[in-house]
Amino acid sequence: MGTLKIENLNKTYPNGVKALDNVSIEISNGMFGLLGPNGAGKSSLMRTLATLQEADSGSAFLDDIDILNNPSELRKVLGYLPQEFGVYAKITAYQLLDHMAVLKGISNNKERKELVNYLLQKVNLYDKRNKSVKGFSGGMKQRVGIAQALIGSPKLIIVDEPTAGLDPGERNRFHNLLADVAQDVIILLSTHIVDDVKELCSNFAVMNQGEIVYHGTPDNAINQIKGKVWQKQIERDELANHQEKFEVISDKMIAGKPVIHIYSETSPGEGFTAVPPNLEDVFFTKTKLNLTSVPTV
Ligand code: ADP
Repeated sequence: MGTLKIENLNKTYPNGVKALDNVSIEISNGMFGLLGPNGAGKSSLMRTLATLQEADSGSAFLDDIDILNNPSELRKVLGYLPQEFGVYAKITAYQLLDHMAVLKGISNNKERKELVNYLLQKVNLYDKRNKSVKGFSGGMKQRVGIAQALIGSPKLIIVDEPTAGLDPGERNRFHNLLADVAQDVIILLSTHIVDDVKELCSNFAVMNQGEIVYHGTPDNAINQIKGKVWQKQIERDELANHQEKFEVISDKMIAGKPVIHIYSETSPGEGFTAVPPNLEDVFFTKTKLNLTSVPTV
């Protein structure tokens, strides 16, 4: 059972943007979701943990490995799948994984061949092993990405916005694959897609403007705002007025008319009905509203 312990991590870029603002979090085996809008600081955190960039201060440990001061130790047990697993050269799935395995230090030919074939089977690409990765669909490329992230029995796998370009079927297959490998390792999954977290993660955190604004289970997060989310269908020209008057969490067009969700401790009246909150309401409550009444943990 591994533990990733991050304490007081800070990062300000030379342009003055504070991307990580005293980030502290502890994560154990399984799939952990890091949810936040674009610009929240998710990639900055992922890249720091993947030892691709340095923090200004703070600490991060994977069990007894000091990630910030001993990046080469961490890299031995790290699998990293970047946002886009780009493949530019004309190379087959087999050749690519074989090459990555060489880079990870697996020099024994027989051992490497067995590993590559095992991984190809695991990500369901064995039949396509001799086809060029360049011609693969987005989902297939991501599966090659996961296969390469699994080389060398990693203890920590970092996956940055993995489902962005995938169609629903590909996304499903990718989710199943992640859930399958998550049992024995820590998988850190960064995403701005609420459903990714809902479907996959037993624990998650919400990040906004460099800070962790929630950390816990999806169920607890939903329970926190139970009875406080209200819905109303309005006319388009009423939107601005409602935004001024209420804590609007979200507005969605349904059959051409905006349906708004607002956060309110008590009934707001005016044609609102209470709705059972979902994870999307949690996400927007934590990231859009500046509510002191909503606890962060
Ligand atoms: P996310 O992954 O949640 O979209 P990022 O970590 O990419 O967030 O970005 C957090 C903030 O830091 C954003 O305001 C972004 O513009 C800024 N940022 C990210 N990388 C750099 C960089 N290399 N130099 C300057 N600013 C950056």
